[in-house]
Amino acid sequence: MAYAIDQSRCINCAWCRRECPTDTIHYFDQANRKHNIDPQFCIDCDICARVCPMDCISHEPELVPDPDSLAHAKQRARAWARDRRQLKLGIRAYAESQVVKIAGNGS
Ligand code: SF4
Ligand code: SF4
Repeated sequence: MAYAIDQSRCINCAWCRRECPTDTIHYFDQANRKHNIDPQFCIDCDICARVCPMDCISHEPELVPDPDSLAHAKQRARAWARDRRQLKLGIRAYAESQVVKIAGNGS
C-alpha cells in the first residue's frame, strides 16, 4: 500500500516533501512541476496526508511497493528518525545552555 497525490489540487507548498521520512516525495526532478510520490519507497506512515493543507494526499491500496524497495524505505525511515532525535537533543541542549547563560547574567 502507498499514498498518492491528487496533482490537480496540489499547491506545491512542499510540506509533504519536507516531512516524508523516506524522501520519496519529489518535485524538482520531474518535468511535471507538481509534487509526486514514488510509491516504491512509501512506508504507508500517513505523515504526508496529515500535513497537507489541501487534503489532496490519499491512501491507495492498489499501489504496492516491491519488497526490496520497501525494506530500503524502512531503512531510510529509521535513519530519518535517528537524525530527528539527534536534532531535537541538539536544540534542547542549546536551549538549556541559553537559559543557564541568561540566569547567570541576571545574578
Ligand atoms: S505515507 Fe509516509 S512514506 Fe509514504 S509518501 Fe507519505 S510521508 Fe512518505
Ligand atoms: S502538502 Fe499537499 S499541497 Fe503541499 S505540496 Fe504536498 S501534496 Fe501539494
